[in-house]
Amino acid sequence: MKLFTVGPVEMHENILEMGKEQLPYFRTDDFSALMKNVEVNLKSALGASDNSKVAVLTASGTAAMEAAVSNTLTKEDKVLVISGGSFGHRFCEICKCYDIPYTELKLEFPRTLTRETLDKYDNLGYTALLVNIHETSIGQLYDIDMLSDFCKRNNMLFIADAISTFLSDPIEMDRQGIDLIILSSQKGLSLAPGLSLIVANEKIVEERINKTEKKFMYFNLVDYFDNMERGQTPYTPAVGIILQLNERLNNIIEVGVENVIKHSRDLAMDFRNRCKELPIEIPEYPKSNALTPIILPKKNAKEIFTIMKEKYNIYLTPSGGDIGEILLRVGHLGNLSISDNIDLIDKLKDVLI
Ligand SMILES: *Cc1c(COP(=O)(O)O)cnc(C)c1O
Repeated sequence: MKLFTVGPVEMHENILEMGKEQLPYFRTDDFSALMKNVEVNLKSALGASDNSKVAVLTASGTAAMEAAVSNTLTKEDKVLVISGGSFGHRFCEICKCYDIPYTELKLEFPRTLTRETLDKYDNLGYTALLVNIHETSIGQLYDIDMLSDFCKRNNMLFIADAISTFLSDPIEMDRQGIDLIILSSQKGLSLAPGLSLIVANEKIVEERINKTEKKFMYFNLVDYFDNMERGQTPYTPAVGIILQLNERLNNIIEVGVENVIKHSRDLAMDFRNRCKELPIEIPEYPKSNALTPIILPKKNAKEIFTIMKEKYNIYLTPSGGDIGEILLRVGHLGNLSISDNIDLIDKLKDVLI
């Protein structure tokens, strides 16, 4: 089996090995020390300031999106949501659940988010921006500095889902003025699904998270931040994935975040270059290194997905909704190499030409 998906992705050998080990009991000083190591490495990898807070949630990425919204925003807010695909739309659905007023800035596929589009929302009283830096459903990467400028000049909170951009494209939380970042285990981190992470700066913790009324318990971030002071979580976490996260972050810090990003970029550039040999198109909008969206002019994306799976045991990433028949996504995350690209292109030639 070979995964060109966006999560779960091909895991590294040393992480796979860990999967068969007995899990330790976790209310111990040893486990606390490991959690503190995760916290330090994570902040370093994200360029987060030392006094930012980290919450390790045992839940998928959507839960972290919901926790971010429900812990920081209220009925008094006026939120702008960048909605360029299904993940952007999900933020709207979450706001709806919590009666948080929002505007959906909808980008019809394949429209690019430009400065001119954003300018129209200046000085309208918006208090927060919700955005998936990489809209994974179509592969569009938004310009973080552009979003950051927009938030600064409008005095808005900048809440960023970086789940599928982290470790594929550069991101620097503190320097780029991001107040809260959402991550998840199964994308660039290339771990098993089940863990998600929130990193919040001092401002959003003090002005929002510590003050908002919470009509829920499991996702009360104040409890997670308090427990993290001693390297713990309020409830039993996914201990096994935390051990793997610790190992993976150690590996990433050792080789350097910029080299992990470079690996993803090299794979993406190589793949896009080889795509010239195929009867497909690649959308023009700015793209993340995490994946390449490919358009199949014959509108047979679902069929090609199935053929690749059945015939070669290769998993591309199918798309949902209206674009499901024209768009496939090819992941460049996890333990993949250039020779995997070469093999994939060979087989796609077989199937498409
Ligand atoms: C994968 C992903 C999520 C999380 O999805 P889950 O299925 O809940 O883990 C959220 N946002 C983005 C941008 C993603 O790519």
